[in-house]
Amino acid sequence: MPPKKALNGSKRQKVSASSKLLETVEANGQKQEEDEEDEPQQQQQQVEGEDHAAARSRKLKSLTEAYTTILEVIGEDPSREGLVKTPLRAAKALLYLTKGYQDTAQELVNGAIFAEEADELVVVRDIDFSSMCEHHLVPFRGKVHVGYIPNGKVLGLSKFVRLVDLHARRLQVQERLTKQIANSIVEVLQPKGVAVTIQAEHMCMVMRGVEKSGSSTVTSCLLGDLKNDKSLRQEFFNQIPVNLHFRQ
Ligand SMILES: [Zn+2]
Repeated sequence: MPPKKALNGSKRQKVSASSKLLETVEANGQKQEEDEEDEPQQQQQQVEGEDHAAARSRKLKSLTEAYTTILEVIGEDPSREGLVKTPLRAAKALLYLTKGYQDTAQELVNGAIFAEEADELVVVRDIDFSSMCEHHLVPFRGKVHVGYIPNGKVLGLSKFVRLVDLHARRLQVQERLTKQIANSIVEVLQPKGVAVTIQAEHMCMVMRGVEKSGSSTVTSCLLGDLKNDKSLRQEFFNQIPVNLHFRQ
């Protein structure tokens, strides 16, 4: 039985690959026509590009000024050699670390959802992430483990990493990050069940001495069959290394 299933799966993939090719060819043909007669659309896109660049430079300017103030307030001299470029560098870093606000889950998984009759638990373990604690603006980092029971659709495995980053690149608390990743998987796949577990070390705790280095916080969000079916839940937790020593 399993080989037959695999054969069906690969046949289906070939069909969808060739129909994709057809779509691309058609889309190209259509695009040429549009290019010839639709200059206003191109101009529109250019304007949007300029708006985006202008918005970014406005944000960088404000953040650079704010970081200069921060340096002065803590007793530093923002004009000394080592710090001259720091406010701009910090501004760019902060925009990068919060770039998840710009994206949506649907855009991100576009083209990576495949029809598949698999209905067994899929587990993607040890996805590294780093995020920023919204209470102290200091990093927390660790591993995300994702499990889901497909319901006619599966997601390309690398997209789970992108989904995690989408939510991690914002100001976060670990509990909300866990739920948002789970809800995104429901949104794009409508699976029979989802489980997300995060194990993380919070630098705001470690650096302020509230928590020792090496200790960690574990959060989980379980939905659908992975919440309601005790044996499936157990199968997921048996597969993730959350109870081992936490080491980055
Ligand atoms: Zn914190």
